[in-house]
Amino acid sequence: MKKLYRALKFILNKLGALLRILFGFLVRCIRAINRRKRYAIPFYSILAYIFLVILVIKISGDSSYDRVIPNKRINDVTKINPIHVGREVSPQTIEEIIEAIKSSKGPISIGGGRFSMGGQIGYENSLHIDMRKFNKILRLDTVAKQVTVQAGIVWRDLQKVVDRHNLSIKIMQTYANFTVGGSVSVNCHGRYIGHGPIVSSVLELKLVTASGEVMTANRNQNPEVFATAIGGYGGIGVLVEVTLQLVDNVKVERQTSLVQVNDYNDFFNSTIRNDKTVIFQNGDLYPPNFDLINSVAWRKTDKALTDTVRVNPAGENYWLERQVMRLVSSGKAGKWIRRNWIDPILYRSEKVLWRNREASYDVAELEPKSREESTYVLQEYFIPVNSIRSFIPKMKAIYDRYHVNII
Ligand SMILES: Cc1cc2nc3c(=O)[nH]c(=O)nc-3n(C[C@H](O)[C@H](O)[C@H](O)COP(=O)(O)OP(=O)(O)OC[C@H]3O[C@@H](n4cnc5c(N)ncnc54)[C@H](O)[C@@H]3O)c2cc1C
Repeated sequence: MKKLYRALKFILNKLGALLRILFGFLVRCIRAINRRKRYAIPFYSILAYIFLVILVIKISGDSSYDRVIPNKRINDVTKINPIHVGREVSPQTIEEIIEAIKSSKGPISIGGGRFSMGGQIGYENSLHIDMRKFNKILRLDTVAKQVTVQAGIVWRDLQKVVDRHNLSIKIMQTYANFTVGGSVSVNCHGRYIGHGPIVSSVLELKLVTASGEVMTANRNQNPEVFATAIGGYGGIGVLVEVTLQLVDNVKVERQTSLVQVNDYNDFFNSTIRNDKTVIFQNGDLYPPNFDLINSVAWRKTDKALTDTVRVNPAGENYWLERQVMRLVSSGKAGKWIRRNWIDPILYRSEKVLWRNREASYDVAELEPKSREESTYVLQEYFIPVNSIRSFIPKMKAIYDRYHVNII
């Protein structure tokens, strides 16, 4: 203790001496300047100018800057597209949406689950309508297998309800975190064989236009509005209600096949494309060589379930998946381990699940520990199946040239 006290005293003494020297130097400088008037005037003018600039910086600007601006900043899941919006509302009724639109004179932006990755959800200084609290199920007709929902509902919440009636969403993405409105607005696609994007399962829309008018659109009533709102990225109005066709929830069995890229076209056309028993299918292409595809097909089956979970719950722990993702994205060795060890183990066992289980993945399994340190971005290229053979080598050449880390 005594030693510490002595060390502190020594440091303080030295600091005091240094300050005394600096202060003495400053006093001598000022005296010297004061003795010569031609230096004194510019010196004091510069000092006054610096003081004035500091004062102006301190008192100018928005006094509530720190408090208000962070609240106005919205971002998508990548965290690389921050946008300052003017006003943000989270409506729970159509009236609140109409009121917000009518009270706004400038641009309007709309956010659903905020998973689109190109800044589509926001616009500088716009009125931002956050749809996530506008999320009720309005009508469920279990005989006609149709459901009408408010557009801010996420797939998982809808799945939990339709599953009780052994029904399923007909077309949606692989993950269940997206809102119905956001999915319809981008005309999303899924892994469903024999169906195109979501548009074919949308029966009717209700939207609020930029003038605050409520409009119903389907294939007979306002068909041009119906066609442009689906895939319209919110460009012609706020989708408030969506009516969807549902299908039966069935049991599905996983079947995998390793196929060379050069043979994939024939494989797909002969065993997947026209097979009505295939519900989901996707092909995982192995980097960095991009020469082999793991086709994962889920066929309708009567076999006994190997897992009885009906809908994947939210909030599961995905620690292991995250570690695998880190390993695979870490370099060529990680990719080799995935192709030769991890995937063969993952796909070895027989799997029979409910369709709703396979349709309710959680994006949390892909999420890095923190988006502040690293992020990932999804890129999609739409190519005809018949062009896959010529497309893949060209794609690989671009990735190689720019050293892209593809998983
Ligand atoms: C991990 C991951 C996997 C994905 N997989 C797929 C996939 O398999 N298939 C696929 O097609 N896409 C996929 N996507 C992309 C994703 O489906 C789309 O970005 C989808 O729009 C996300 O829905 P969202 O609720 O987050 O919409 P947001 O990103 O919030 O919004 C998307 C667009 O719709 C507009 N919008 C949102 N709600 C409304 C509304 N109520 N009225 C009018 N306009 C509105 C927004 O302004 C924006 O332009 C994936 C994305 C991620 C991150």
